[in-house]
Amino acid sequence: MKCTICRGQAALEIRRHNAAFCAPHFLEFFERQVERAVRDQKMFTHENRVLVAVSGGKDSLALWDVLLRLNYRATGLYIHLGIGAYSEESRAKSVAFAQSRGADLIVVDLPQEHGMNVEELARNSGRVSCSACGLSKRYIFNKVAVDQGFDVVATGHNLDDEAAVLMGNLLHWQVEYLVRQAPVLPSTHPRMVRKVKPLYRIAEREAAAYAVLRGIDYIVEECPNSLGARSLLYKEALNMLEAQSPGTKQSLYWGFLEHMRPRLAAVQEGVTLRDCLHCGQPTTGEVCAFCKMTERAAARMRARLVRAQPASSGPPPEETVAAGVPAGDAVDPAAIAGEPIGLPSGPDDRA
Ligand code: SF4
Ligand SMILES: [Zn+2]
Ligand SMILES: [Zn+2]
Repeated sequence: MKCTICRGQAALEIRRHNAAFCAPHFLEFFERQVERAVRDQKMFTHENRVLVAVSGGKDSLALWDVLLRLNYRATGLYIHLGIGAYSEESRAKSVAFAQSRGADLIVVDLPQEHGMNVEELARNSGRVSCSACGLSKRYIFNKVAVDQGFDVVATGHNLDDEAAVLMGNLLHWQVEYLVRQAPVLPSTHPRMVRKVKPLYRIAEREAAAYAVLRGIDYIVEECPNSLGARSLLYKEALNMLEAQSPGTKQSLYWGFLEHMRPRLAAVQEGVTLRDCLHCGQPTTGEVCAFCKMTERAAARMRARLVRAQPASSGPPPEETVAAGVPAGDAVDPAAIAGEPIGLPSGPDDRA
């Protein structure tokens, strides 16, 4: 197999483009695709401050790397979720990458700042892990970006991710999520930054190839909570279709962007956001979904501690709850509504 450009030995075949590239030309192809995504979708400019959500995985580190090479003002944000050894390793990879590139990395520690790791938050709030995780990440990405003056949050979602999410949303007619699925989610509130996905033109294996060719040391293991996730099933199904008919994923997702996005954008514009009464972050309800989740989780944890403690000893229950967890009454699950506008939750949303 020969490189389409120089006729040298090709390192990677890209069947959906009917092309193959040697290593240097593949790296050029990758950069071109990212630049084109940024430019065509008006994601950001070289003047903007970009906050890159990094997980230590191939996609987010490849994204951060390419943005730095293209001279964008890209700072990393790593959220430590407290998912055992997976979180420890992913943090180490993110920190090592930042050091190797001399780039700034912001680290937010969920257990330290909100008193609970993802599992505890999920258990105490009655959500599944990926839902609690996705909600926490969306909230923290936006809060850090707003508080620290970033113009945009960039995530490493690639073409495979987007096609799989789209397939899931279509199979289950998740219209609310379809409305919000786009490479760019514009800011619709002064405290809501723009969210962008500069890798939406890049397939997963291309992101992996880029990371390997650039010598990026990324975490190979997936989050343990992603095992058995439906999105992986959709990815497998799409991989089977892609093998028989190259370009299926691209045609599905890009077709959606071309034919459906303009119609759905009008629906999105009709959503009104207001300030959360508890934290000030934008929400469609009175209290944002993150505050509801953490308050509910804190209340349940307090109730457990009260039950577990002998009546005569120990500090009052409030003091046993870690700092940073807002105190509040339990919230009826039926009342949990008004999720902040953001990415649909699901396993591994790339940071
Ligand atoms: S699979 Fe992804 S969304 Fe789910 S808990 Fe792990 S990191 Fe969070
Ligand atoms: Zn070549
Ligand atoms: Zn809030």
